[in-house]
Amino acid sequence: MQKEEILTRAEHFIALEEQYGAHNYHPLDVVIHDASGVWVTDVEGKRYLDCLSAYSAVNQGHAHPKIREALIAQSHKVTLTARAFRNDQLGPFYKELCEISRYQRVLPMNSGAEAVETAIKMARKWGYKIKGVPEGMAEIIVCAGNFHGRTTTIISFSTEAQYKDGFGPFTPGFKVIPYGDADALEAAITPNTVGFLIEPIQGENGVIVPPHGWLKQVAEICKRERVLLINDEIQTGLCRTGKWFVQDYENVHADILILGKALSGGFYPVSAALADNEVMGVFQPGDHGSTFGGNPLAATVARAALRVLAEENLAENAFEMGAYLRAQLEGIPSAHTKEVRGRGLLIGVELNAEAGGARRFCEALRDRGVLAKETHVNTIRFAPPLVITREEIDWALEQIRPVLMMP
Ligand SMILES: *Cc1c(COP(=O)(O)O)cnc(C)c1O
Repeated sequence: MQKEEILTRAEHFIALEEQYGAHNYHPLDVVIHDASGVWVTDVEGKRYLDCLSAYSAVNQGHAHPKIREALIAQSHKVTLTARAFRNDQLGPFYKELCEISRYQRVLPMNSGAEAVETAIKMARKWGYKIKGVPEGMAEIIVCAGNFHGRTTTIISFSTEAQYKDGFGPFTPGFKVIPYGDADALEAAITPNTVGFLIEPIQGENGVIVPPHGWLKQVAEICKRERVLLINDEIQTGLCRTGKWFVQDYENVHADILILGKALSGGFYPVSAALADNEVMGVFQPGDHGSTFGGNPLAATVARAALRVLAEENLAENAFEMGAYLRAQLEGIPSAHTKEVRGRGLLIGVELNAEAGGARRFCEALRDRGVLAKETHVNTIRFAPPLVITREEIDWALEQIRPVLMMP
């Protein structure tokens, strides 16, 4: 007789993923069925406070009603024209994003990695056409510990061995320097350097905050040396750290700003590379594009996502709630905690090497109803949706305290 295994609902969905999906992720075993604001509910009806926010894509909170309404309304009109024709959502989206970010032009894409690729192509072409770098010689400087996405070119300059293993040959033209080191940048620049690609806080590397003043300093070096500063704020931007962009903290206006994730509030992939006229002007019709980039559904969703960030003062809330959460986390007398760091509601709790890795802490948090994910081996990232209230943070802390105090 064949033995029938009785599976819970969650186990059923997990088994399907394991059997039919590629195993390119190692998720926490919580199967989410619906979500609203900072809360998600699993298929068995258990509620969790989401402290990951889909890597900061749902800064506005899950399923924000205003973004949902915009998406549904537009889906009744027109969803995709491709850029062969124009649509009545793209222009207003450009204008609103330019006003918020103080850039002159936008190039819309879908995933973050595509917007990074766009910035790389823009910088190289600017190097050849405007700066006068000899053809094929353009160099872009990047930082150790970077995360800019998963395309073949982007992983070519990753310093994470696993991201590259088995995926060569790699795209040349990149030079790696230590993160947060302005002198290393000066030493690495050559006449062929066209860009310096950075994250103003390294999210995936474990919420690494560079020394104060570094961003301002590298912006000055880039300006002096005629190198484009390319600021990837896909994770840090759009109010996450307590201002619209991290570069606002140091009054920096990078030559290229890259956005994604929360640009759609989690409804739809929308990304963009922004620049001023001289740099964006290198693109001619036919140079670059995307079938879905800038489609009317994406543009509408992004406009609503930006309106929610502004109308609900989510930068201010991230600033205040972030300061509160960080101070409270620092106050937990845990023998495991090595450092609490971050800005706004992008917070990393790095654990000592002897703690046995962050994963077991994330599993214990899940069991108590808080979803957080380890970044790198020893850091727990706390990055809840920016709509979180003080009461919700206090509830989360009641769960986090015993977990950080466990043996
Ligand atoms: C997530 C992320 C990306 C890649 O975005 P995708 O949408 O996953 O392609 C690039 N840069 C940074 C800083 C990110 O956090």
